[in-house]
Amino acid sequence: MRIISSIDALTLTYDLQRGRKLSECSFLPRPPLDTSFSFNKDLQNILYGRHLTNDDLSLPLSEMQSHLEKGYLNLDYGVFKKNGNWFCNRCGNNNLNKFAVFHCARCGENCTYCRSCIMMGRICECTPFFTWSGPALELPPLHNSLVWSGALSAGQANASKKMIESIKAPRSLLVWAVCGAGKTEILFEGIQEALAAGKRVCIATPRTDVVLELSPRLKNAFPNANLAVLYGGSEDRGKLASLTISTTHQLLRYNQAFDVLIIDEVDAFPYSLDETLQFAAEKARKPQGTLIYLSATPSKKMQHKVERRKLDCVKIPARYHGHTLPVPSFEWCGNWRKALEKRKLPQTILNWVLNQIDNQKQAFIFAPRIEFLNKIVDLIKPFCDLVDSVHAEDPERKEKVLAFREGKTLLLVTTTILERGVTIPNSDVAVLGAEDSIFTESALVQIAGRVGRHPDYPGGDVFYFHYGKTEAMIQAKNHIEAMNSLAKKSNI
Ligand SMILES: [Zn+2]
Ligand SMILES: [Zn+2]
Repeated sequence: MRIISSIDALTLTYDLQRGRKLSECSFLPRPPLDTSFSFNKDLQNILYGRHLTNDDLSLPLSEMQSHLEKGYLNLDYGVFKKNGNWFCNRCGNNNLNKFAVFHCARCGENCTYCRSCIMMGRICECTPFFTWSGPALELPPLHNSLVWSGALSAGQANASKKMIESIKAPRSLLVWAVCGAGKTEILFEGIQEALAAGKRVCIATPRTDVVLELSPRLKNAFPNANLAVLYGGSEDRGKLASLTISTTHQLLRYNQAFDVLIIDEVDAFPYSLDETLQFAAEKARKPQGTLIYLSATPSKKMQHKVERRKLDCVKIPARYHGHTLPVPSFEWCGNWRKALEKRKLPQTILNWVLNQIDNQKQAFIFAPRIEFLNKIVDLIKPFCDLVDSVHAEDPERKEKVLAFREGKTLLLVTTTILERGVTIPNSDVAVLGAEDSIFTESALVQIAGRVGRHPDYPGGDVFYFHYGKTEAMIQAKNHIEAMNSLAKKSNI
């Protein structure tokens, strides 16, 4: 491997004659910072806390070169081989299937690029990646920024206090809050504390709809804070603000930018915490920063960390309205797949459906695969017209969800939990085929969590119809009962 300086590497990427790729070179250490150099403030503004390619920057070569020579820029690989495997330095992808080769105009050769983050522009073997290594871009403190007159429940207040301690320390924290605990309000006082100390705060989530739902609430609570709302196509992309709400992918543009990074993953169901989000979070937060996880169903790995006291944890076992979680009931329904093939609904399920229709009570019906949805709808139709199905890739998804929300649909058959905005005040839930492996403990807890969120209707039924009880079903029920007994014990 050829050892070169960053400056050579920079020239290399512009000088096609050399016929070498960055990925085939290793870099000499960065020169020490020359504090007498009058650096470009615009470049500092663009690059501080970020991780950008030369295409994102589009600055003259001479400007980049002088900053490299004086130690104000750090140059790194885009795509390169790490321990023998291809690795993307922007998104952390190391899955061989997610790389491809194209004939590259820049290096004039076949060049490997990352398909995983291609929507942010192509990053390949000859793409240099820049970070700022000059002076930090300080943020002026913002005092008394919170404008909110609501009250926290006892459980929320306890978590809020813990969060403030974690930000001050700083150390990481898991906020284990049941579905419907009111997570957003827990964050308010901690964010205020961080902004008053001149810290940058980011809330990251895998889902755009969560970003869109949270942003007006944060704008109202912190009207004077500089807010960036980041998702594919947003105007704020690449902005460095004091308060940021971002999707996973937009977070990948940042590097050591945030003092407080809050990861909201609970509503990412049915996907477990996206690995890209974890990679992005590690990269985007400052090494000494606070990492706060919000989850209703933390992974076993995270729970073990808590048990071994490697991670602080605060639990909110009760919903903000103070009522306990509805506990699921198990109902054996026989071989429902066979029944569906014979165009029949198992009797126990049919009874439940007829009961919902008699009482005119809305309900979600979850099934393990898309192929079952229409079969189930067809079997309910003779008894009730107000039944429909929807799944994640359904082109009419928005309209169907709206109809359900407006009460025009009584029974909605679906494979996946819908947007977190889909909270039907007074509804029940049934899972058909709860023994299917797609219904993990956390999925089943999340599904049960759809019921009873509204203070006027804190109750509701949750039925797991099954053809053989599974460990996941039992664990989900234990999980819910444990939270309920904790809520009673701690009186919150
Ligand atoms: Zn190339
Ligand atoms: Zn990538």
